[in-house]
Amino acid sequence: MLLQTHGLRSLSILGLTVSTLAFVAAPVTAEQQSSKTGDVLVAELAEDENVEDIEHSEPRRAPEEVKAPKKVAPDIDLKEIAPVPPPPTTDEAIAAAQEDATVPEEPEPATSFQLLGTEVRPGTSTRLSWSPNIQIAGLSQPTPVLVVNGVNPGPTLCLTGAVHGDELNGIEIVRRTVYDLNPEKLSGRVVGIPIVNLPGFQQGTRYLPDRRDLNRHFPGSPNGSLADRIAYSLFENVIRHCDMLVDIHTGSQKRTNLPQLRADMNNPDVAAFTRGFDRMAVVHSSGSSGMLRTAAVEAGIRTVTMEAGESHRIQEHQIDAGVNSLTSLLDKEGMISRMFVWGDPEPVYYDSNWVRVPNGGILFSEVDLGARVTEGEILGYVADPITNAQHPIRAISDGRIIGMAVDQVVMAGFAAYHVGTEAEVPGE
Ligand SMILES: [Zn+2]
Repeated sequence: MLLQTHGLRSLSILGLTVSTLAFVAAPVTAEQQSSKTGDVLVAELAEDENVEDIEHSEPRRAPEEVKAPKKVAPDIDLKEIAPVPPPPTTDEAIAAAQEDATVPEEPEPATSFQLLGTEVRPGTSTRLSWSPNIQIAGLSQPTPVLVVNGVNPGPTLCLTGAVHGDELNGIEIVRRTVYDLNPEKLSGRVVGIPIVNLPGFQQGTRYLPDRRDLNRHFPGSPNGSLADRIAYSLFENVIRHCDMLVDIHTGSQKRTNLPQLRADMNNPDVAAFTRGFDRMAVVHSSGSSGMLRTAAVEAGIRTVTMEAGESHRIQEHQIDAGVNSLTSLLDKEGMISRMFVWGDPEPVYYDSNWVRVPNGGILFSEVDLGARVTEGEILGYVADPITNAQHPIRAISDGRIIGMAVDQVVMAGFAAYHVGTEAEVPGE
């Protein structure tokens, strides 16, 4: 692509890192329709709710730009600590890259994998980089992409973390899952992007530098907003190469989630896909327009969102649950064979609703994440620090607390408890 060449040609004269503008997004009330039920407001499930849809990107189905693979990726043992890669911004590097491009291509092995202009040979693993080319060219920061191409043919599983830059558990889930794989024993390919939203990650924010939520702009557009362009670049250059995708998130706005999948259970391919995840709660959610999950499913890629814990934190037990479940998926998809089969429980399927707080004040929970609750049970209180009034919050159905707010100051209408009710799998 032209822009990539520009990125290489323009030198970083000042040696500065990119200074993106950090905006603190104002809390936004969830967009879901809500209905009054007794003392509490009930909202339909939404993923990462309280995110405002400012714009919708127009779904684009432009064919992927045909690019000849430029080079063969070096085989790197991903278990070894990576040296800090020097930026390829020197004239020699550009000359070397151009030289590589002119090397006549050998016949490709059947399971060679072409990604980001590079050939990843079977039985090798490597680090590639994806650059959405939205920054000042000389200051461009490529986003690392980990690739393991197995020695045996098989499907391509993609893992994305930190689409919201402050959601850290997924970064570690991707790292542990990918770095544990041995290409000599893998069937198929695993592509991991630990940190999709690199500017957001560096600023400790969920959003992009333009304050947009990247997860409302897929599959993106090459001519739209910053978010549209980043989404488009990721979608065309990486996501379209995946057969399966797990997009890993956490709760937002001081909410925490039991490890769980969000999946459109009305889609038979997606429903079948969820059965590979052991020990997971699976919550039916058809998804919103612009989500990576929604766009990928529309493109024929079996996709779920994995939610694990809270933003801004690294939570060992949440990470463990995510890694173990992804390992079970790799096993059930025939990509690895686990040495030991523990007979892990199957996933459990839930319908769900959000319980909103009736009043503003300080939220104190009486239940823990994962607790089983019955209809009418008090889940917590909102205390008004001025009037001393205590407003109880009650469960409106039997079920399990699959997500909840941590204790904090809340405004009326804040979605505080996500209650899941066990449900049959649609289509069974
Ligand atoms: Zn998220």
